[in-house]
Order: sequence, then C-alpha cells, then structure tokens
Amino acid sequence: MVIKFKTSTNTAELNKVRAILKQAAISFEEVEYFKRKYFILFEKTTLDLDFPFIAEVKTSDYPFKLVNRAINPSNVMVDVKGVKFGNNSFNVIAGVCSIESQQELLETAQVLKVKGVDILRAGAFKPRTSPYSFLGLKAEGLEILSNTKAAVKIPTVSEIMDFDDYPLFVDVDILQVGARNMQNFALLEKLGQTNKPIILKRGFSNTIEEWLLAAEYITKNGNPNIILCERGIRTFESYTRNTLDLSVISIVKKISNLPIIVDPSHATGKSELVVPMAKAALVAGADGIMLEVSQDPKNAISDGRQALNLAEFSNLMSELKSLEKAISK
Ligand code: PEP
Ligand code: MN
Repeated sequence: MVIKFKTSTNTAELNKVRAILKQAAISFEEVEYFKRKYFILFEKTTLDLDFPFIAEVKTSDYPFKLVNRAINPSNVMVDVKGVKFGNNSFNVIAGVCSIESQQELLETAQVLKVKGVDILRAGAFKPRTSPYSFLGLKAEGLEILSNTKAAVKIPTVSEIMDFDDYPLFVDVDILQVGARNMQNFALLEKLGQTNKPIILKRGFSNTIEEWLLAAEYITKNGNPNIILCERGIRTFESYTRNTLDLSVISIVKKISNLPIIVDPSHATGKSELVVPMAKAALVAGADGIMLEVSQDPKNAISDGRQALNLAEFSNLMSELKSLEKAISK
C-alpha cells in the first residue's frame, strides 16, 4: 500500500500521518520521487486516511512500487543531454564492446555520428567471465572515451562495476549496470544516490519482477533516471548466446513506467541475428536499441562474433529509418 502525498504537503501534515501509522503499529518507509513524498506501507491497512493533503492511496500486488505503472502511471522520461527515452522515440546506442585504442574509437565514433547514432557505447571496465580475458583499459579507456566525446560531440555510456570507480565516470553521460551486476544491491543503492542516468541490464537468469525490483533499489534511493535493457536470458538453447525475450517490452510497458531498450548483440551473440532482432525491437515498441559495432569484427578483442561491421551498421540504420516511417513511431 502506498500513500502518495500532494507536492504541497508540509511537515506538520506528514507528522499527522506518521503518528497515525505509528499508533497502529504499521511499518512503513518514506521515500521521495519526483519531488513528491510517498509512504510505502509494508502491509495493507483499513485506517481512514482521508486527508486533503493526500493525493492518493494506492495498492498493487507487485512488490515494486515507485516504478509501478499502477501507482505512478506517467512514463518516466530519461533525458540524456537532450536524447530522450520514454517519450515514444526510438534511440540508437552503438559502439564498441571494449575500448581498444584512441584511434579506433575516434574513427568508429565519427562514422556512427554521421549515421545518426544518438549515444556512443564503449566499455572500459569489462565484466568478463574469465579473469584471464581482456578486462578493459579501465581508467585509460575512460580517458579515451572522454577525448572521443569531446571530438565527436556525442553523449556516452559505459559500464561501472564498482562504485569506487565512480569519480572516473564524471564525463560519462549514462552509467551501465551490466547483467552480472543487476542484483549488486550495494552498487544499485550507491547509484541511486547519484543523478546520472542508468542503463540497467536484465540479469541472465532474472525474472521481470526481480529486474523491476533492482530498478526500485535505484529509484528508491533518489535516482529515477533508469532505462531498462533486455539483453537476452539464459535458456536451454545453445545456438544463440542467450534467448532474446522480446515479449518483455510489452510486459514492462504495461506494469512499469520505465523506458526499455533492447541489446540484440549480447542477446544473440551472432551478428547476422542482430539486424532482424534490432528491427523486431523497434516494431515491438522498444524505446531504443544498443548495439556493438566494430571497424574490424574479426580482430576485435571482445565480442567480435556479434559485432556489426560499419557497412552492416549503416544498412541497418537506413532500414530502421524506413521501418520507423512505416510504423510512424
Ligand atoms: C556489455 O554491454 O558490454 C555487457 C558486458 O553486457 P551484459 O552485461 O549484457 O553481458
Ligand atoms: Mn560485449
């Protein structure tokens, strides 16, 4: 049960409700969301809460409350330097899996910008399954990303694995929480105390409810700027790297107010499947896609098998444009 106060509610009015709940021994938590106070009750109550300063008292069987469409029906719009997610537009995020060199990232980003990419992705801290794989250029990689952003004038996204690295990410516009960290609650809470937009990827084996609860951790701590990213889940199928769950777009839009994008690269693991799945994501109503591209996929240090080369990427961008017109998104 959630008590949603009017934005004009003052301390004395809040105290009145605090006292009533305390008297009734009802546990609750106070949170602020878009400058409005909410009391989240841990149990249902039949108490009379008919006060003029209370906007609504809402219930939902889902355990996530703030990112819950039944409680907060308006779309959350995440504005990344003017690129808006959640306003019915379709944004393309593209770039390299791992940053390898200044020259490579700069050349790639220049092409992507010309092709109409909205945001550049580039990994510096890489969560690799094996500790003997390339783990990224780390701080040096973020410096390369920053130089590239300054030269190409494009917003950026990069994955953060450890909040201790946060100061290195000052110039990064979106922080990515990868699939492996979706339930790293300490990281989520810390990111909730920042105001950076977050891309929250779905964990390989996580349910939609668990994913939205992870988003709730960030939101509840004060940062509502979350973009969900479906990146495939682990199933018995081994032909693809993961199984892309496209139905999640409609489900998330129904039960949550958050924008959702699709990463067909990690979802399929095969470049030839990336193009059809990117188009499917657009038609299915996603707020965007995030793709891996490479100047030279065969020699990319990580994830080359799923990277589109620049020509394939360019074709995809034209196809997406025609498709967007056809469905008049
Ligand atoms: C990535 O986007 O670079 C990545 C590692 O993705 P995921 O967390 O989805 O595996
Ligand atoms: Mn990758």
